[in-house]
Amino acid sequence: PLVLGIETSCDETGIGIVRGRTLLSNTIASSMDEHARYGGVVPEVAARAHLEALQPAIEAALAEAQVSLSDLDAVAVTSGPGLAGALMVGVGAAKALAVSLDKPLYAVNHLVGHIAADILTGDEVEYPTVALLVSGGHTSLLLVRDLVSDVELLGETMDDAAGEAFDKIARILGLPYPGGPEIDKAAATGDPQTIRFPRGMSRASDMAEHRYDFSFSGLKTAVARWVEQREAAGEPVSVPDVAASFREAVVDVLVTKALDACARHDVPRLLLGGGVIANKRLRDVALERAQAAGVAVRIPPLSLCTDNGAMIAALASELIMSGRPASTLAFGADSTLPVTTIQVEPSS
Ligand code: ATP
Ligand code: MG
Ligand code: FE
Repeated sequence: PLVLGIETSCDETGIGIVRGRTLLSNTIASSMDEHARYGGVVPEVAARAHLEALQPAIEAALAEAQVSLSDLDAVAVTSGPGLAGALMVGVGAAKALAVSLDKPLYAVNHLVGHIAADILTGDEVEYPTVALLVSGGHTSLLLVRDLVSDVELLGETMDDAAGEAFDKIARILGLPYPGGPEIDKAAATGDPQTIRFPRGMSRASDMAEHRYDFSFSGLKTAVARWVEQREAAGEPVSVPDVAASFREAVVDVLVTKALDACARHDVPRLLLGGGVIANKRLRDVALERAQAAGVAVRIPPLSLCTDNGAMIAALASELIMSGRPASTLAFGADSTLPVTTIQVEPSS
């Protein structure tokens, strides 16, 4: 099926078009720059940016895919989770499009969309797989037995998302937003062994008790305190060393838990997704330790890892190919949609 996907859960306006499992276009307009002076995504600013970016993004995606609206077999949209106001813009646009074109509409889960992105790489993708999704808005560890019917949440962050932690530490160190790339740059010349920052909730007993939840607020406090104490004592703070030590702590926790989940569930596959995957240290450590553990790692290209519309179209395409009915128009934006709800409001 030819599917157009709309993604507006955070600060990316993503329009993607797929035919079956083939990617035809993936247009992304980000309002990241508009949030920079606030040090994080401002929901109202994001929602308004989506409103302005949607129409041109749809036109660009259609042109690139060399198809017209009437060619479409279905429209797909992110129903949640995400920022309520931002989601609402996409949901409204998708409904209007589907109704005016008289095409079926598939309302889907954003996190499961991140997993579906992997299908567009053209490789043979196998399940079950453990998936680690790390971005500015989420840090989730999932067990995917079947993309369209069986996704289980193993753990998620109890406080800050991993990308958010990078952004906050960057601010403490006087680096601009978004912090991830800046910390990465600074860490390149730093020594990750200088400071042993805490690895929140990553002892074996934690993993047993808290499933696979994450916590990064303790780490953030530890970094802030370390910097404050050095400054109070009049000692120099090496930004590269702090950045490298912080990054090592985050990477260590993420990879340790993901691979522990693979072992616990006897799943020799790990999929990585989300914008934090841009972090080369995270990719390197994951690949190295996974190889030692006999786990195959999949990392789609970054354009499919960050928020995008193609992954939403891909998930809908899979739903259609497995014979699922379209969603009714009774759904809305659901900022806390659980990952177990892969499709919202399917008509029976
Ligand atoms: P969502 O949470 O809905 O997926 P988002 O817009 O918050 O959306 P992304 O756009 O996927 O998330 O990713 C942005 C985040 O990734 C930011 O927090 C940014 O700091 C982080 N990031 C980007 N590059 C790197 C990097 N090299 N290392 C670490 N973090 C990074
Ligand atoms: Mg983003
Ligand atoms: Fe996302």
